[in-house]
Amino acid sequence: MAFDAEAIRAEFPILQRQVHGRPLVYLDSAASAQKPRAVIAAMTHAMEHSYANVHRGLHTLANETTDAYEGARQKVAAFLGAEPSEIVFTKGGTEAVNLVAAGIGTFLQAGDEVVLSEMEHHANIVPWHFLRERKGVVLKWVRVTDDGQLDLGHFQSLLGPRTRVVALSHMSNVLGTINDAKDLARMAHEAGALVLFDGCQAIVHRPVDVKDIDADFYVFSGHKLYGPTGIGILYGKAEKLAALPPYQGGGEMIGTVSQDQITYADPPHRFEAGTPPILEAIGLGAAIDWIGALDREAVAQHEHALYARVRERLNGANWLRVIGEAPAKGAILSFTVDGAHAHDVAQILDRYGVAVRAGTHCAEPLMRRFGVTSSARASFALYNTLEEADAFVDALTKAQAFFA
Ligand code: PMP
Repeated sequence: MAFDAEAIRAEFPILQRQVHGRPLVYLDSAASAQKPRAVIAAMTHAMEHSYANVHRGLHTLANETTDAYEGARQKVAAFLGAEPSEIVFTKGGTEAVNLVAAGIGTFLQAGDEVVLSEMEHHANIVPWHFLRERKGVVLKWVRVTDDGQLDLGHFQSLLGPRTRVVALSHMSNVLGTINDAKDLARMAHEAGALVLFDGCQAIVHRPVDVKDIDADFYVFSGHKLYGPTGIGILYGKAEKLAALPPYQGGGEMIGTVSQDQITYADPPHRFEAGTPPILEAIGLGAAIDWIGALDREAVAQHEHALYARVRERLNGANWLRVIGEAPAKGAILSFTVDGAHAHDVAQILDRYGVAVRAGTHCAEPLMRRFGVTSSARASFALYNTLEEADAFVDALTKAQAFFA
């Protein structure tokens, strides 16, 4: 059965709205995706019917909320092919990387090496820079090829006896490139390094099995996966999480506390200090249920068709530069328009109701690699239609005329 984008759209109330008197064409889902009714309803239901703080109560609402929160952890675990004890709730993908980097950092020595790539988001760069500044850790950068792929030969050459961590994007938020995480993990492990994947983009577009990949750590955010903001996931192999020291201190993460001694809870609670994002976890659980009911292969084909349509229609546009043309890529089009600043392009598109992002996309090393200071980015999601892909190309063609 063909994928029914119209039926999907009907589940997203916000997509009914107009912008500047035109139907909204939302092509900024890589920054944050819109929310289906199922997610909104799950969070509203919890607030209206079954809400209290988790874990510490002996009353009915506390127990119900604890069940819902821990139930969400089970859903995430099943979604990733992991155990619930290997799933830590964080406030986002960014916090998850910070948690891992800070923990591993306590073991690293000056001269130890962390391998990143030129296509990383700042979320998977800055926490490792902290270790460079504070511990003298050396950062090594895998080059990106002209068409936007990781240079695997270069990656191999960077791996050595001092490589402790390899931290790479599973899918680039700018180039759309989908990296072969399993192969990268194998190479990292052969060098004796731990491997972390930034799955913030990849998780949205393809099934991820962390055990098959053999990732030590895998992180993502809820809000790009049609879930709420304020929630992220850190998956860590049980023994790797067990070896990490706590990140923040407070209630819920301890074993016992006295005036002169402290013991910590086992993972995952060791890493969940204080009242966690309860409603957000419930919302993420609902998002995962919602996605789980879809034919993900059909979704991927639909998104690919949207991208292919745009790419084909823009073929031969000599005023356009596309950044990222890897053979394995998702439905993200990053581009510059000759003679125009990306911000101006985005603002003109907005007048046509078309929402795209413009700027550095929190990926300054990548911008530098491609010799640009910014780019515009149209990112497609399952609720976009071919008509919207056309509306984008039409609006972009008109916008370009301003600068020609
Ligand atoms: N990594 C990638 C590849 C991303 O696209 C993003 C979000 N733009 C992040 C990390 C950071 O996610 P968050 O801001 O939700 O923590």
